[in-house]
Amino acid sequence: MSTSGVVKTIQTSGSCHCGKVEYTVSGSILGQSYCDCKACQKATGTLKVPFITVSRDSFSLTQGELSIVHGSTGVKCDNYGVWYHCPECGTNLYWAPHQGEQIDILVGTLDDVSVFNLKA
Ligand SMILES: [Zn+2]
Ligand SMILES: [Zn+2]
Repeated sequence: MSTSGVVKTIQTSGSCHCGKVEYTVSGSILGQSYCDCKACQKATGTLKVPFITVSRDSFSLTQGELSIVHGSTGVKCDNYGVWYHCPECGTNLYWAPHQGEQIDILVGTLDDVSVFNLKA
């Protein structure tokens, strides 16, 4: 068992900007990072996007529905996965790779962002 990389278990909730989509996350944070690839910039309108990585099983939609966006930048996060957003307000809630059982939640959509602790 590795002693580096503390796995933190969380139980928290999140939502989109308009409030039509709500979700809970219950499980372990498997990683956290910033991405500043062009796909992430276009998807969010920001320079650097903070993510936490969790198992798909940890994420539960509790209200509303999500739409999938296939980005068109042709780089990194658009090439390797798709974006899940609120069809009403367009807020991206998470990114999911084409392969694998993990998803990256956009930290800004969490109600409690203190689970993320990387310096910008
Ligand atoms: Zn919304
Ligand atoms: Zn990216």
